Amino acid sequence: YYLAKKMGILESLAREPPIYVRALDNVSVEIRRGEVLGIVGESGSGKTTLGKVLATLEKPTSGNLFFMGMEINDHNVNHVRKHIHMVFQNPMTSINPRMKVKDIVKEAMKEKREERIKKMLEEVGLDYNYVKDKYPRELSGGQTQRVAIARALAKEPDFLILDEPTSALDASVQAQILNLLVDLQKERKLTYLFITHNIAVARYISDRVIIMYAGKIVEEGNTKEVISEPMHPYTQSLLSSVPELGKKELKPPSGEVPSLINPPSGCRFNPRCPFAMPICKEKEPPLVEINGRKVACWLYETNWKKASS
Ligand code: SF4
Repeated sequence: YYLAKKMGILESLAREPPIYVRALDNVSVEIRRGEVLGIVGESGSGKTTLGKVLATLEKPTSGNLFFMGMEINDHNVNHVRKHIHMVFQNPMTSINPRMKVKDIVKEAMKEKREERIKKMLEEVGLDYNYVKDKYPRELSGGQTQRVAIARALAKEPDFLILDEPTSALDASVQAQILNLLVDLQKERKLTYLFITHNIAVARYISDRVIIMYAGKIVEEGNTKEVISEPMHPYTQSLLSSVPELGKKELKPPSGEVPSLINPPSGCRFNPRCPFAMPICKEKEPPLVEINGRKVACWLYETNWKKASS
């Protein structure tokens, strides 16, 4: 506060009117029980906001949220939160650095017996006797993320939202944590929303995938189909820059995600799109279903007409 005051930041903030950004625009998502839905996009695509809205950590300005057929409202939101848990890129966001590992997990459990805590930590691949009395700062990044996952599972959620849980980790540790998440999902029949900027990670872990760009869904479908035959030019450019899992990441498509304060008119991808046509700058393409895939791009206008006739 003092530094901000000295630098005149507070005064200038007081003079400026607030800026409202629409981080998500007309986004509709359905997640089926037991599936892994990948959300892929660069930073600024709205994917983390979507995760927070679905985790009930942020309220949308309009629209409705349903969980197991029940509309979420102010009266039932705390009950719903018992079934949903979010794991963040930085595990320190959700764990208390002043607590010992065993207490971090214990705090989240309904049944607080020591053998349950031991089992939970062993399930995420940690040696209980080695980690139980340690503080998070004494562990590696991969071990700390395992503790965060153990804590999330200790709450016995049905639905886990994983926001870039492996992107802060070394490539080899990244693969270990992904394998752990895949095994846990199968054993416990969990439902995952897996948020990532890396389409190779989504290819590895998800059944279905949603590609987001500048606050919009641009493509949605079965992961294998989207990866083998991407329809949207943005998905195509993401795939052309994709690294193999566990290898160094390549550069994202050239250009930048536009500012959401003043997004481009028409299709938001038009300034970066090699196929842009005059209509792309004028009219926004709707998200239309073609043979079980959804895509928002004017290149497929004739296919929509065929699909609807
Ligand atoms: Fe490119 Fe136009 Fe399709 Fe947008 S609508 S992705 S600008 S071709």
